Parts: sequence; structure tokens; C-alpha cells
Amino acid sequence: MTREVRVRFAPSPTGPLHIGGVRTALYNYLFARRHGGKMILRIEDTDSQRFVPGAEDYIIESLKWCGIEIDEGVGVGGPHAPYRQSERRELYLKYATQLVDAGWAYYAFDTAEELDALRKEYEGRGETFAYNFKVRTTLPTSLSLSKEEVEERIARGDIWVIRFKMPENEVVKMHDLIRGDVEVNTSTLDDKVLYKSVDALPTYHLANIVDDHLMEISHVIRGEEWLPSLPLHYLLYKAFGWTDSQPEFAHLPLLLKPTGGGKLSKRDGDKMGFPVFPLHWVSPTTGETARGYREDGYFADAFINMLALLGWNPGTEQEIFSMQELIDAFSLDRVSKAGARFQPDKAKWFNAQYMHRKSAEELSAFYQPILKEHGIEVSDEIAGKAAFIMKERATFVSDLWDLTSYFFVAPTEYEEKQLKKYWKGENPARLAELREVLASIDDFSLENTEKIVHAWITEKEYGMGQIMNSLRLALVGAGKGPGMYDVTSFIGKEECLKRIDHLIANVKPLE
Ligand code: GLU
Repeated sequence: MTREVRVRFAPSPTGPLHIGGVRTALYNYLFARRHGGKMILRIEDTDSQRFVPGAEDYIIESLKWCGIEIDEGVGVGGPHAPYRQSERRELYLKYATQLVDAGWAYYAFDTAEELDALRKEYEGRGETFAYNFKVRTTLPTSLSLSKEEVEERIARGDIWVIRFKMPENEVVKMHDLIRGDVEVNTSTLDDKVLYKSVDALPTYHLANIVDDHLMEISHVIRGEEWLPSLPLHYLLYKAFGWTDSQPEFAHLPLLLKPTGGGKLSKRDGDKMGFPVFPLHWVSPTTGETARGYREDGYFADAFINMLALLGWNPGTEQEIFSMQELIDAFSLDRVSKAGARFQPDKAKWFNAQYMHRKSAEELSAFYQPILKEHGIEVSDEIAGKAAFIMKERATFVSDLWDLTSYFFVAPTEYEEKQLKKYWKGENPARLAELREVLASIDDFSLENTEKIVHAWITEKEYGMGQIMNSLRLALVGAGKGPGMYDVTSFIGKEECLKRIDHLIANVKPLE
């Protein structure tokens, strides 16, 4: 690849970023890093009607959480600043009129009411109205009106748009890095609006092509929903005379519902209980909220790993990838053409895999806030150790409190089922004996305690299960938890003896 790789993620701030959008950003980022290129963030906010306050910040925070780094763009700056299209608005009219002058575009003066009436009229005949080569010379456009009249209408402040003059009956041959060669006959396409005088803003198509050109974008990697716009984009490059430096295109497959049919939507998530957005979102206008992966307790690296494999495969059996491993393995030719079905259980599976691989230090950072919520103040080392002992049984950090609370809080209530089984007959007396054995141990380390207690049980020929389970009842209060010596060594001798004393003093043996 001779050209410098420069890719962009170009979201429109119209609401929270869907996980499909995060995946688009991720593939752009992986591609940029893989080829030593640049990742650009451009905010496409020229559609003032769909603009949602807070959406841009949400996008930036989401990318940050995911570890998708931006080299140039909104929030970072760079040689092609500004990167927010609304701040580039002065730039676009010149390009739109350049196309008019070259005969690739024209002014159209129809009002919204006139267009509505036309649509209705066509519908009445069972046809669909399209603004195209068949009608453009019969409607009030610079192709039907005299030059003077066009100038006069513009001068007196009539509302106008500039439309692309889609050629008639030409075949546009395109290439997509994922889909291969694609051809479209231009007679099937309409004359898209490029610029609107009413708000002095370009539409997506014009701003997108002009900015990709000015920002020297080498590869456009975006969602499949933009594939129908590709012929127009090819022709815009041709009309501007920029074909030689035109970027290459890759259109990513859709993220599909868990059931397969159709695009994954917020409703699917609400119905089946999983988020379709990276972060929690509160709509500033309606107050409506949406769940986020971060707030639902997913690790960013697990979330990214899961997303990476929705539509791309490494060609091996490997499933767990760090960001660096993804960068090293990623290529567009392993992105599938077919939509990728979202699997909520697989997302959980990935999180569990990451949980099981985390170090005590990493776990401590996630677990400390939860401990604090329960009023537990301990060192990072202690917090990490508790989480580490039980991590194999956890899927989310939020599972850890249930799994480890007895490390920090002595039981005051005891599980009925365990009491019935292990707090009867000889158990209380045996536990009292065990208490004295434990009290006599100086080195209370896991290994030493285990050695001494085992030797004692063997010598006395007691039943191991009964003794250990009544000890568990005293220390944990329930039939759960890790190996008993993990608990004894964690809470220490004094606490062990206190908990045993509490059970003996407060709970009458059954029978
Ligand atoms: N602003 C468009 C979007 O929101 C960008 C499409 C493209 O990448 O060309 O998806």
C-alpha cells in the first residue's frame, strides 16, 4: 500500500451511538493501526433537524471507554481542523456551485408543498415520484428556467436547493473491498440534494465527499446502509475531478437481531434484556433512557472482543483477542458480506472469560467501589485477593459481592438447609474441639492450617465432610464459598474463632 492510510469515523450526533456504530469505529481503528495510519473522528452534524444535544459527548466518551484512540478530529484537533461539519459550513457552497458551473448539478426552486403535491399526484396514479432525468427539465430548475430568471429568483431570496444531475442510462462500475465489483445503472437513481439555501448547509452526500477529499481519506469503511449511496459518491468524485485520489470503499455487514431477521434495534435489547449501546444514555429532550454495556457491568475489553468477532473472523479458532492482537490479525478480506447475528449469551460468555483472566490488581479497581457501597473499607490488596479467589464463578463484577461478602462480614444468620444438615448430633461438640485446634496454631497460613487440621481429623478418625461443613456454616453461614482454608487464611485466626464462638453461643443445635 503506497498511500498513507487515513480512515475516518464520521458519526452524526443524532442520539446514542448504536453498537453497530461502535463496531464501524473499531474496524476503522484496527485498520488504521494495522497499517500504521491515522484514525480521524469527524462529526457530521449538518442535519440540524436530527441534531441531539449531548450525542457528540456520548460518542467521544464511548470511544474512550472502548480504547479506540483518535489521532485527529473533534476533541483532538489536527491539520484539517475543524472536524465538526457545522464549523466548516462556509466551505461547501463553493463546491456545490462548482458542480453547477461544470454542468453536474443544478438549482431547483420547488417548494416543499409543490413536491408534496407532486408525490400525491404520482401516488394517485400508483406511481412513485422521483426527482430525476425524466422530470428535472419540466420543474422549476436552472435546467428549465432562463439564466436571468434563475439569478433573479436567487437574488430575491427564493428558497432553492442544488441537486446532482444524475446522468441518464450510464453504468457506474464500483469496487468494494468486501463485496467486490458492483455495477449500477444511473437511470435507477434520483437527483439527490447536495446543498440547501434554507439553512445554508450541505447535505450528507456533498459534505461527506468534500471532507473525505480535503482530509485525504484513503479508505472509507462504513455500514452497509451506505452502499446505495456509493454510485452517487463515485460520480461526485468524477464530477469534481478527484477520481485519482478517490478513497477505496468497504461496506460492513449489518448487525442482526438474535433471531436473525433484520437489523438489531433498541427494541430487541429491551425485549430480551441486553443493551444495544455502549454507555447508559438519557435523552436530553424526552428523558428516555437506554442501558449501556459499561453500566451493565461489562469490561470494555470483553465488549470490544465480542464486537470485533461480529462480522470479522480471524480464520482460526482463536476467540480471545486483546486490542493489540486484533490489530495484528485484522484484515478487511476476512469481513463477511452476510449480516452478523448478535448473540446476547455470547456477550456474557466473553465477559466471564475476561473476568477469569483478570489479575487481582485489575479486579481490585473494579471491586473497590462495590465494597465501598457496602461500607467496607479495605486495602486494594485485600479487595483484589477476595475477588481473585472467586473470579472463576463470576460473570460480572457485580456478582462478586454475593460470592465474597463473608470475607468481610461475619454471618449473623445461617442457611436453614445447612443448619439441618450440619448443626446436629456431634457437630457442635466437634466444632468446639476444632476451635481449640485452630486456637493453638501459630502460623495460620493456608498450607499450615490445612496440614494441622487434616492431621487432627485423621488422628481422631472424624468424618472430614461433617467437620468441614460445620466449619463452613460458622465462617460463611451458608453452603457456598471457596475451599475452607482460603476462608480461614483470608479472615485470620481471631476472626475464625469469633465466628465459631458466635455460632455455638447463638444457635441451638437441631434435634
Ligand atoms: N454520517 C454518516 C453516518 O452517520 C457517515 C456515513 C459514512 O461513513 O460515510 O453514518
